[in-house]
Amino acid sequence: MRMKRITEGFSPGEQSVRINGSHQMSANKQLKILVLAGDGIGPEVTQQAINVLRSVAELGGYDFQFTEALIGGVAIKQQGSPLPTATLDAALESDAVLLGAVGGNEFNQLSPDKRPEAGLLGLRQALGGFANLRPSFAWPALATNSPLKPEVVEGADILFVRELLGGLYFGEPRQWDREKNSAWNTLRYTRDEVVRVARVAFELAAKRRKKVTSVDKANVLEVSQLWRATVTEVAHDYPGITLDHQYVDACAMHLMNTPRNFDVIVTENLFGDILSDEAAVITGSLGMLPSATIGGAVNLYEPVHGSAPDIAGKGLANPLGAILTAAMLLRHSGNLEADAEAIEAAVRHVLEQGYRTADLARGNTPGVQVVSTQEMGKQVNEALNRIIDRSQALHAV
Ligand code: NAD
Repeated sequence: MRMKRITEGFSPGEQSVRINGSHQMSANKQLKILVLAGDGIGPEVTQQAINVLRSVAELGGYDFQFTEALIGGVAIKQQGSPLPTATLDAALESDAVLLGAVGGNEFNQLSPDKRPEAGLLGLRQALGGFANLRPSFAWPALATNSPLKPEVVEGADILFVRELLGGLYFGEPRQWDREKNSAWNTLRYTRDEVVRVARVAFELAAKRRKKVTSVDKANVLEVSQLWRATVTEVAHDYPGITLDHQYVDACAMHLMNTPRNFDVIVTENLFGDILSDEAAVITGSLGMLPSATIGGAVNLYEPVHGSAPDIAGKGLANPLGAILTAAMLLRHSGNLEADAEAIEAAVRHVLEQGYRTADLARGNTPGVQVVSTQEMGKQVNEALNRIIDRSQALHAV
């Protein structure tokens, strides 16, 4: 495989996945990518991700077409809706959607269904992705950035597979009855919803360290008992994968004590939301985290962070989460594993060289150079070009 020698031994978090037992896809070298840069730092970081994707396309001879559309606050201002119909149509016609972030203080007075965030939730629902992949990886060069001790985070490499379309967030009935001072939500899962997300977790684990931890609260909740029984049943189809179950409260503690012990964690919507944010401390900055939502009509790729209005337009945003999101796009929508690994190796390289955006710079650490969003993107792009060039040269001999 191209680039194998350069990226060998580097496991940034996850690998491409087969769903429902379908066979491994061949590489997709023609990709129609819809770019929804959005608000705040969204356009700044997304531009760096696009630059990296353009380099990959150029160096690999691939045909990536980029189309832009509006979402979030900028869409409200220009088209009166956080998710214009034209944007939704363009998303459904694309091979992958790359999103920056949405949101801004000026929209805070709007009702929830009119705010920029409503556009993103509407898009996620329309695309139908049910498995949200969130890698949490301890970059060696950033070991001291985590509030956890370096010896605790060292070697941690966790992939969360969070169920995204079910559970408390969508269950009916739901209501706040103000007269009775009472409110309720419904936690409901069907067996099929658990089966499909569990399969994603096992398929991914098969390409990693072959361990799945399923997280629930089966000592208290019937829904968790269904979850546990179903995941156990699905595990029979994957004899090479070790499955263990943890209660969510215990998992929250083990994540901070022994993060290295986890490989793939599969869990329901709310538990996944909370635990993946908790595990983000392993990486040391919100700006480092990529995500992919797969399994629907079109996969959606977005860095985990929001629009960060406090630093927007100042060149302070860390583009690495967006750039690593581009790697996930190549992996899961292009099946271009070697190229995804090359991007991740380039990120590792610039971090090892001491380049840091402001969020990653701590004190006056020797050898550290604080750079802008644009400069960080440029450094990654240059490293990527060198890595791919070298690997092509190695390949040729
Ligand atoms: P946020 O993620 O935007 O910012 C939280 C903190 O992290 C801020 O101090 C910010 O400066 C910093 N930060 C975030 N990304 C960074 C990066 N790439 N580089 C350096 N620093 C970074 O969360 P918030 O402040 O709670 O929300 C701001 C807006 O973003 C709100 O309108 C919120 O609704 C929206 N939001 C959108 C998404 C999304 O689009 N997926 C996700 C979360 C929040």
